[in-house]
Amino acid sequence: APGARLIGLIGAGLGPSLSPALHEREADRLGLRYQYRRLDLLELGLEPERIGELLAAARLTGYTGLNITHPVKQLVTAHLDVLSEEAAVLGAVNTVLFKGGKALGYNTDASGFARSAMGGLAGADMDRIVLLGAGGAGAAVAHALLGIGAGAIRVLDLDADRSARLVDALGAHFGRHRISAGPLDELQSALAAADGLVHATPTGMREHPGSAVPQAFLRPGLWVADVVYFPLETELLTAARAAGCRVLDGGRMAVYQAVDSMRLFTGVEPNADRMLRHFDEL
Ligand code: NAD
Repeated sequence: APGARLIGLIGAGLGPSLSPALHEREADRLGLRYQYRRLDLLELGLEPERIGELLAAARLTGYTGLNITHPVKQLVTAHLDVLSEEAAVLGAVNTVLFKGGKALGYNTDASGFARSAMGGLAGADMDRIVLLGAGGAGAAVAHALLGIGAGAIRVLDLDADRSARLVDALGAHFGRHRISAGPLDELQSALAAADGLVHATPTGMREHPGSAVPQAFLRPGLWVADVVYFPLETELLTAARAAGCRVLDGGRMAVYQAVDSMRLFTGVEPNADRMLRHFDEL
């Protein structure tokens, strides 16, 4: 393998992130010289709007690439030379690679969810899916589902503007009949007619306990995927299991996005199963 690789993670409040441990352990196993550093906007005292300066500094100081997380996944796109197809459609980037004098932007949240769903929801009906939450994670999920052949997605969000913007961007790309937005009070009736639900709001995270979906809306025959992975077993997933639903937690999406980023950074194929085991231990 060529020289040492230096990777940064840019976001605000990165303390609990598992990415450094996940990347560095796998790089060790692959025999790569690889350092993964937190570049925390809060610790650096930088406003998100200064992401361009931090990106330029990382490029000048020899970073191979960067992972980008909340709250700068959208802001960073203005400072990149080339965007992958999904990054361009989503207007959001979680992986930057410096290569050939250019800064290239990718979105491996989308590819990570696609791989997670193809494994964890293999054979599940995908004709009608309800997506709750149209933020960064929800957008990546919608792109992934449409890319792997979902029939139609109904997007619900507290913020109707956000769901409308997502539907507009993805409808233009994948076909307007395949994605639509509805009001949040439609959740129960939308779920009654759906094959599956993907939950992509922060509800259920340790800092935002609870469930955005009343248990009474769940039934056997509906599959339920959560993108939240802190904790892995959210209140929603516990309720869904109790209701007899097939479930998929957010852990595999998190691991597979790291797998896809590492492949971009190194050109080497990470061992995804080993990374899943690492993740379970962390
Ligand atoms: P975000 O702030 O960009 O979007 C969240 C959206 O949810 C917002 O549009 C908000 O209006 C909406 N919302 C909030 N509460 C709601 C409710 N009760 N009903 C309907 N809509 C509601 O956040 P994000 O970056 O998309 O992250 C969401 C979650 O996804 C977080 O828990 C994050 O940790 C997780 N995530 C997981 C992965 C993974 O790999 N598993 C990747 C990215 C994000």
